[in-house]
Amino acid sequence: MQDLLTEKWEDFLKRYYWDEIIELSNSYPEKRSLLVKFSEIDIYDPNITDMLLDDPDVILESAARALREIDIPTGVTLDEANFRVIGLPRVVKIRDIRSRDIGKLVCIEGLVTKATEVRPKIVEAVFECPFCHRQFSVMQTGSQSQNQSQFKEPYECPKDDDGCGRKVQRFTLLVGKSKFVNAQKVRLQESPEELRGGELPQALDVNLEDDISGEVTPGDRVIVIGILRSHQRITQFGKKLFFDIYLDANSLELKEGEFEEIIITEEDELKIMELRDQPDVYERIIRSVAPSIYGNEEIKEALVLQLFSGVPKELPDETRVRGDIHVLLVGDPGVAKSQLLIYQVNLAPRGLYTGGKSSSVAGLTAAAVRDEFGEGRWTLEAGTLVLADKGIAAVDEIDKMKKEDRDALHEAMEQQTISIAKAGMMARLNSRCSLLAAANPVGGRFNKYDPISKQINMPPTLLSRFDLIYTLIDRPGAEMDRRTAEHIIETHYAGELLARLKNKRKIGEEGEESFREQMEAMKPVVPVELLRKYVAWSKRNVFPVMSEGAKKKFLEFYVGLRGQSYEDEEAPVPITARQLETLIRLGEARARTRLHDTVTDEDAEQVINVVTYCLNQVFTDPETGRLDVDWIAAGTTKSRRDRARSVREIIKGLEDDYGEEIPVEEVLDLAEEEGMERDKVEEIIDVMKRDGILFSPGSGVIKFVR
Ligand code: ADP
Ligand code: MG
Repeated sequence: MQDLLTEKWEDFLKRYYWDEIIELSNSYPEKRSLLVKFSEIDIYDPNITDMLLDDPDVILESAARALREIDIPTGVTLDEANFRVIGLPRVVKIRDIRSRDIGKLVCIEGLVTKATEVRPKIVEAVFECPFCHRQFSVMQTGSQSQNQSQFKEPYECPKDDDGCGRKVQRFTLLVGKSKFVNAQKVRLQESPEELRGGELPQALDVNLEDDISGEVTPGDRVIVIGILRSHQRITQFGKKLFFDIYLDANSLELKEGEFEEIIITEEDELKIMELRDQPDVYERIIRSVAPSIYGNEEIKEALVLQLFSGVPKELPDETRVRGDIHVLLVGDPGVAKSQLLIYQVNLAPRGLYTGGKSSSVAGLTAAAVRDEFGEGRWTLEAGTLVLADKGIAAVDEIDKMKKEDRDALHEAMEQQTISIAKAGMMARLNSRCSLLAAANPVGGRFNKYDPISKQINMPPTLLSRFDLIYTLIDRPGAEMDRRTAEHIIETHYAGELLARLKNKRKIGEEGEESFREQMEAMKPVVPVELLRKYVAWSKRNVFPVMSEGAKKKFLEFYVGLRGQSYEDEEAPVPITARQLETLIRLGEARARTRLHDTVTDEDAEQVINVVTYCLNQVFTDPETGRLDVDWIAAGTTKSRRDRARSVREIIKGLEDDYGEEIPVEEVLDLAEEEGMERDKVEEIIDVMKRDGILFSPGSGVIKFVR
């Protein structure tokens, strides 16, 4: 039977893959795998493909034997070549794997979240008997092995012509004569775009051997074909009834491309074009973001621009510029920050939501750990920003993130990579995603007069990497409160009615009519499913360029603002080139919302408004009302620095009269004469004490630390 099969395979290979085999033999053993399409085997003999799916161990073994024994005119024998099958017609979802699939050939798609180092694994161990010096080998692999990573050692010397047949405590392992193969273990997880409504992603571990090991890093999307296996769970109390499953890979393909997973039919395309042709498509899309949340139009607009994002580019000098737009929401509790994040993730074709204090070791970025997954090997594990590659990562309460993450985030946001160098592992993972972050101020409520960096415990350098920052401040105001309350009450009411309907209860005296009206008013203008497809289509197909008019508008805006400081040497720096880059990205994103291939004058104007709103809100010195980038980029302002300098000089001046210990009251009086407010000066003195410049040797006096 086996021989028959091998003959059949040989016939197939000669008829269908002869050229490829010759090619392989020319670059053998550097190249060592023959990739065979499932469909071609099927054409040759559908019985074989049936058997292949059903009993892959036997069939693949005979195929490999046929390949290894084939006679090649060049004289090379492909004695260690691999026979790998690609292109299975059906992909099984990780969550749909069932016990009937065990032992079968299956095709799985997913995201690599963890990968161990590549290490040699022994496949054929050669032992020597210490008494008769007989050498013999023991195969270490094979489908029947109970525990995959258990090393099989013989108990007795084989009893035949050369062997003594004695029982031996320990045989000598001849490492040099044994055969090894490179091996790696990876964990595949369901892709975020396959999950709906906060489903927990499920995972499957995959063993990769020989030339397909070391080919993937965490964050990669792959298609793996292999044999599904199970092994019994063993705890300290013994063997369990439950079995764990894993995949022994036969072939592996990397999947590239953006939003491939979102299928857009011709019918969808018609709807997309219909939406594009609406004169108010931009407003419609904005109104479709989180309709249950009242107000916050500016933020919703920013979220729309983030969804579409700018164009990632390579400049002529080969530097890469991100197209992704990073947005930060800072604000009081209970202002729907978290809700906005969750909504955005739901809209994004590829979105991931996480808390800043994520429980996984990899956190937001990535980690190298040595754990039981790697069986002693180091494992590289991807965090949120890697897993959200080419999508949107929403990080709630980013103020609570781990220190390691904070350090790695700089690189992740700008270069969009995450580098790991630990224990000899060097890796650079991609994190080409937009970051949408929310932060709660440390003091509970947002205080306009303290630098944001201090309030949310984030270094200014990191803060300045956000394209757009919004503060959400919750201040009671009669008009706004009433309208927000009405909105919340109405949405909840609609929800209540819907719950009644779902549970097949009567709507009530108001009747169906008013209920329908209610529901219509609450629905997003553009349905979520359509919007996701619209975004995906746009990002796949639309690559806008700036019109001459748009270029001019951006230039004038930038130079206009910077110009305010040209004459006045004392003036703060209003904006930097970073904000200019933000404008360009936003302009591209806005053109994409109309599926338009030029950034028009109108796009430029509108995104200038978006940026201006942000600048006024968070880049403005709260005391002077002037634009000052340092408020974000350095956590202080020019006016504060000036004041601090004046206070310092006043104290120094007083030393002539009072010696080293200066009465605070005296400093306050003098400062007041110079036009500073007493409480601000007190604040400065406090900061100087905190920074270790001053200290209090007694009540009401201060002294310089020398
Ligand atoms: P945060 O994360 O800012 O602390 P949440 O997102 O948890 O706040 O919001 C608290 C609750 O208040 C949510 O259920 C949210 O829907 C509601 N809420 C707050 N502001 C609004 C608003 N403007 N419109 C509708 N609902 C709101
Ligand atoms: Mg929250």
